[in-house]
Amino acid sequence: MADLEPYFWQHKSLLEMNEAEWEALCDGCGKCCYRKYIEGRGKRQKLYYTRIACNLLDLETGKCGQYSKRFQLEPDCTKLTKKNLPDFRWLPTTCAYRLLYEGKPLPEWHPLITHNTHSVKQANIMISNGIHEKEVIDWFEFVIDVEK
Ligand code: SF4
Repeated sequence: MADLEPYFWQHKSLLEMNEAEWEALCDGCGKCCYRKYIEGRGKRQKLYYTRIACNLLDLETGKCGQYSKRFQLEPDCTKLTKKNLPDFRWLPTTCAYRLLYEGKPLPEWHPLITHNTHSVKQANIMISNGIHEKEVIDWFEFVIDVEK
C-alpha cells in the first residue's frame, strides 16, 4: 500500500483525494463485479443484488482475471471515478466509495483500518458462492438481496 496519511478519509472529501488515496479506498471485495438489476423507477425502483459474477472475475480472490483488458472484453465494465460519483448508488452498501459518498464511516474491517489485506475475507464481506454469468439461465434464482 502506498505511503498514505493516516485516516485521510476522515478529513478529506472524495473529491479532494489524490489518486493513491482514491485507489486505497477499494477494499478488494469484488462485489461491484457481480450483476445487479434495476426494476421500476422513482419511488418504486428496486435494486436486486445477485451472486452472478462477471465472467472475468476470479470467484475465489474477488480480483479481475483480465484487469488490463477489462474494458475491451466487458464493454459495460464501469471505472469508478470522481465524475460518476453520483451514480454510485448501485455499489454494495459495504463499499467505501458509497459509504463515504453517503457521509458514513468506513467499517472496522476495512484494510485501511486493520492494515491487513485479509481482513475483508475474514469479516465474510466477500460473496462466497458466486457463479459466472455464462453459467446462468434465470438470473432471478441468484438474487441475494433487494434494496428499495
Ligand atoms: S465494491 Fe467497492 S470496495 Fe468492493 S471491489 Fe468494488 S469498488 Fe472496491
